Amino acid sequence: MENPYLLLTPGPLSTSASVREAMLRDWCTWDDDYNLGVVEEIRSQLIKLASDTEDYTAVLMQGSGTASVEATIGSVISDEGKLLVINNGAYGARIALIAEYLQIPLSVLKCDEVNPPTPEEVEQILLEDKAITHVAIVHCETTTGMLNPIEAVAPVVKKHDCILIIDAMSSFGGVPIDLAGLGIDFLISSANKCIQGVPGFGFVIARRNVLSQCKGQARSLTLDLYDQWQCMDKNHGKWRFTSPTHTVRAFHQALAELSEEGGIAARHKRYCANQSLLVQGMNELGFKCLLDNKLHSPFITSFRSPEHPDYEFRRFYEQLKAKGFVIYPGKVSEADCFRIGNIGEVYPEDIGRLIKAVSESMYWQEC
Ligand SMILES: *Cc1c(COP(=O)(O)O)cnc(C)c1O
Repeated sequence: MENPYLLLTPGPLSTSASVREAMLRDWCTWDDDYNLGVVEEIRSQLIKLASDTEDYTAVLMQGSGTASVEATIGSVISDEGKLLVINNGAYGARIALIAEYLQIPLSVLKCDEVNPPTPEEVEQILLEDKAITHVAIVHCETTTGMLNPIEAVAPVVKKHDCILIIDAMSSFGGVPIDLAGLGIDFLISSANKCIQGVPGFGFVIARRNVLSQCKGQARSLTLDLYDQWQCMDKNHGKWRFTSPTHTVRAFHQALAELSEEGGIAARHKRYCANQSLLVQGMNELGFKCLLDNKLHSPFITSFRSPEHPDYEFRRFYEQLKAKGFVIYPGKVSEADCFRIGNIGEVYPEDIGRLIKAVSESMYWQEC
């Protein structure tokens, strides 16, 4: 079936017809055709995408991406631990909220949404609060589209012997990340972002010798990351509870298509081309970006809403949708914005068509 419009949203996103077709048959959750042929292949491919060392494993977890974040936060911090969350947007705030729900001792470095956190301010907190054992940071803060400087923050976290947790939900698969080089202990992402699958599960790429110390720590049965890992490892890819079989099948196909495209480097290049055409085209139409260009991720961009009294997001949105493009409302707290994602089955030609559609949807400029 043809899609009526392109999803320029950062997940769910537009997938290929072949990814959707992969969902057209049923699978038995405990049969080897599923576990060995699909789940174990996915796990080993994810590990390969993450690192060329033997240090990492991959655990898949049912639910949206947030469930995998909650599984990680809830499973990897012991009763004696304390979490520092670097928060410069809604997804950083969500990690802190998870820790509050789970009653995990917490410190929050609250940063400005339009400026990246600096290694100096992270170090200051780690010097002052020796109780902190774990540090969590979002890679692409999807709220604004900012790519946070994990390369600068990671060495500080490691210098203070803390466990490093990265929410790379909207970035993994779309930009090279050197897990081993940065000393990342847990990296979380999900099926329906840059790997270009459909929603239904998330995954955690974990340093094996750190995850192996997390037995019995989980604050939730269904979200016990350690137990899920053990079950998958000992039973050739079996999930503890019913797995989202169709989603998993689609993801397996999506990984094959990532490899056909040329891997993460090639996908990154396409996303960068999409994003720079988007910014260039929108700027030419008079739209201003929320962020400084050098802070942008190649995944999603926030644009300031036009200041015209007749502009209304809903009406603009409906006009673009009728022309075949679905965009995203803003999420930034202090500025009126809308967002356009460019990940998924989206190519530079599509961005060209989008810019034309935007130029024809600027109803507030007509007199
Ligand atoms: C998409 C996303 C999530 C997870 O969102 P879900 O709606 O639970 O899938 C978490 N963090 C970031 C940075 C995201 O972009």
